[in-house]
Formats: sequence, structure tokens, C-alpha cells
Amino acid sequence: MDEEKTKGQQLAEELLMKPKGLGEIDNSILGESTDFCEGYKKFLCNKTEREIVDYTVPILESRGYTEYVRGKRYSPGDKFYMNNRGKGLLIVTMGSRPVSEGMRIGVSHIDSPRLDFKPNPLFESTSMAYFKTHYYGGVKKYQWFAIPLSLHGVVCKNNGETVKICIGEEEGEPQFCVTDLLPHLAKNQMKQPVAEAFNPENLNILIGSWPYNDEKVSDKVKLNMMSILSEKYGISEKDFLSAELCAVPAARPIDLGLDRSMVGAYGQDDSVCAYANLMAELDAKDPEYTTLTVFADKEETGSDGNTGMRSFFFRDFMEDLADTYGLKVRHILQRSMCLSCDVNAAIDPAFMEVYEPANCSYLGRGPVVSKYTGSGGKYSTNDASAETMSFLRSILDGAGIPWQVGELGKIEAGGGGTIASEISLHNLDTVDMGVPVLSMHAPFEVVSKADVLMLYKAIKAFYECPKQKP
Ligand code: MN
Ligand code: MN
Repeated sequence: MDEEKTKGQQLAEELLMKPKGLGEIDNSILGESTDFCEGYKKFLCNKTEREIVDYTVPILESRGYTEYVRGKRYSPGDKFYMNNRGKGLLIVTMGSRPVSEGMRIGVSHIDSPRLDFKPNPLFESTSMAYFKTHYYGGVKKYQWFAIPLSLHGVVCKNNGETVKICIGEEEGEPQFCVTDLLPHLAKNQMKQPVAEAFNPENLNILIGSWPYNDEKVSDKVKLNMMSILSEKYGISEKDFLSAELCAVPAARPIDLGLDRSMVGAYGQDDSVCAYANLMAELDAKDPEYTTLTVFADKEETGSDGNTGMRSFFFRDFMEDLADTYGLKVRHILQRSMCLSCDVNAAIDPAFMEVYEPANCSYLGRGPVVSKYTGSGGKYSTNDASAETMSFLRSILDGAGIPWQVGELGKIEAGGGGTIASEISLHNLDTVDMGVPVLSMHAPFEVVSKADVLMLYKAIKAFYECPKQKP
């Protein structure tokens, strides 16, 4: 028999929060999340927004989604998607209630920090050939030196043909790297601040060292590389002018830790949320409210451009959908709610000085709901209302899903934003929810498998919840 609890113990249980890890709540979560994350690791093998869209569309079609037809009157249970230029997706399941009553929207982004090629990338120096890069998104430049890289992207040739390129992902394929300075000669470099010690113009990818065998030509290594590329892809140097190519870490997603409780991989910001969001969309059972799952591009560079969340593609799609039912988009969105599904920084004991332990997220404590992000005095953020927080809380608690709240870090330690601020501009109640990540934006990021599973369950509960928004 348990000892009888004192009044104070009872009160503490009733009135105080006691955060718990998912493993303490239910030990069986690890097994379930391990199964769930096998699919996640496959998803992570797609390392650019284009590859994620290419991977996702056949999955959607195998699950009964068809390409959106403007003007078509969809019925409850109908499933469709729209592909935004091969870099973004809008995925819908029609609910049993009319669209006029609002929608449940989940948005994540499928671009990740990386090294984009410059428009004129190929050069030879000291008898080696390189691609010049221009980094994309927030990278700590030093992390990209001396690690194996793979090359991804498309080249649009003059004849209208688009060639897809992916080198260094399959077993046995060659890989690439940016070279670093040896410590023996780094005396001066080591004295510089990190931000200055690594010159972005030095982020050049070593691609070859063997010359073309012809005495009569110069830049023999460069020519040899172009000749290899021409043979394999039918491209010439000019074709780089109409290409989107990049280098990303070549490492495959792996189980991390003796207990295999974590996933280590590139691109988990924000593929972790994109995968959870996609699976929730696929698995949501007979949703009453129409669900809309959005994969956006360009979040890492500020959501600009026509595939980013600031583009009208979202609004245009909503207008087409609304027109079909004789509705106004603004009236639908006013009654809708949106989860901006993006990652947050997990507390890291190595860098405690930037975290505020009572208000940051912890690996393995479930999805993290961020009321706001931004920086300083709550600049550049969507600060979710108490009513919105309460509604989400009632959904998560109602579905028995453990979750946590988290700010990014200490108030003036830095800052960062998510798509939430773009989405909320549409007069749409929005809140951030995602997974805590260690080493965010590094070539190798870490998440807890249990958090991934719980985020999926949380979004699914949000999609399935029949309760009306306050
Ligand atoms: Mn993100
Ligand atoms: Mn990011």
C-alpha cells in the first residue's frame, strides 16, 4: 500500500507542473517511435525541397490523392494536392463539415541550410577543380569544411530538357568536400573570431584532380570534369547558368545512441515536422474539418520568392478553392486554425548560458509548442493568443499527448523566426509546434524518436478534433 499523501503533497500534485520525459510516462513509446522513425529516416534521404516533393507525390497518389482541378466541387473525404513548381505542396482532405466552417492547416518547410552553387561555379586552381558556392540559410561556416558532401539539383538545358542530378548518395558513388586548413599552419586563423576565420568565398567544393589528357589545352582538370559531366548528363559549362545545384552532407540518417532513441541526420529542420505533418495528413481519420497540409520552400532564407510562404501561392489556391463553393477566403481563414510546424532548440548542457531552463524545450519531452519566436522585445513573430493556446492545449490534453512549451533561448541570446509570422498575416490563428533539436542547422542534427512520434500524434489529433475553434 502507498503511504497516505500529506496535504502538501496532494496540493503540489494538484497545483504544480511537474515536467516528465516520455520514457518516464510510458516506457513502450520507444518501441513504437522506433518503428515510426524507420519511415522518417527514408524521408530524410531526400535532402532538397525538390527531392522531397518528388518523393511525396507518389505516396500521395498511392493513398488516393489526385492532382487538384480548379473549379471541381470536392466532396467530404476527397483528397487532392497541388504541386507548386516542384518545390512545394498543398495537400487537402475534405472534411465532413462545409469548408465555410473553417479548416485545420498544418505548415512545414522542406528546404534546409546548404551550399548552393554560384551561377558560374566551375574553376581550376593549383591543378584541382572546384565548384564555387554561395551558402543558403543560416550556417556556421566552419561546420562545412572537411565533411563528405553529395551534389543535388537540376540543370535546365537550352533544348528545354531538365536533367536531375544526384551524386554521392548511393553506395559506391563518389563524394565531395570543402578542404580545411591543417592545425599546423592555422596559427593566425586560430586567433580570429569564428565569424571571421572562415571566409565564405573559401567554401569551394573539391571535385577532381586528374587532367584531361591533351597537351594542347589549358585548365586540363576543369576540362576533364566538364567532360565527365557532359558524358553523364549531356551538359556543358553554360548550362550551369540555368541550374539549381547544391552540396549537402552526404551522410545517411542513422540511429543515434546506445539505446537508439535518437535520429542523427542532415535536414531535420524542418523535415522532421514535414514528415510528421505528412503522416498526420495521410492517417487523419474522417476529419470533420477540411485539412490542409502545406510544404513550403525558402523558409531558411526568409520565405521570399514564389515558392516561399510569403508568396501568393497559398492565397491563390485558397481563392480558387473558396470560389468553387461561392465563399470568400477571408471568411474561411477567420474560422480556421494553423499549426506552424517547425523545430525549436533543445536545451544543451554544453551551452547552458544561452538557455532559460524553465522556458526552453527538452529532448524527449514531447512536441514543443512555441507561443512566439522572434527576437528581443518579441520582434518579428506571431505571438499566439491565450485563446489559441488554450484551444491547442485542450486538443493535446484531450488526446492524451504529452507536450511542452519552449522559447528559443534566453531573451537577448539571439533569436529566430518561423513561417508563423507569415501565415498569421492572413488573419489566421496560428501557433508554432515542432520537435526540439540539438545542433540545429548543423550538417548533422539530432532529435528524439519519441518526440517525432508524438508530434505526428499531436498534428493528427489537431486534424481529427471535431471541436469548434473558440
Ligand atoms: Mn525551420
Ligand atoms: Mn531553420
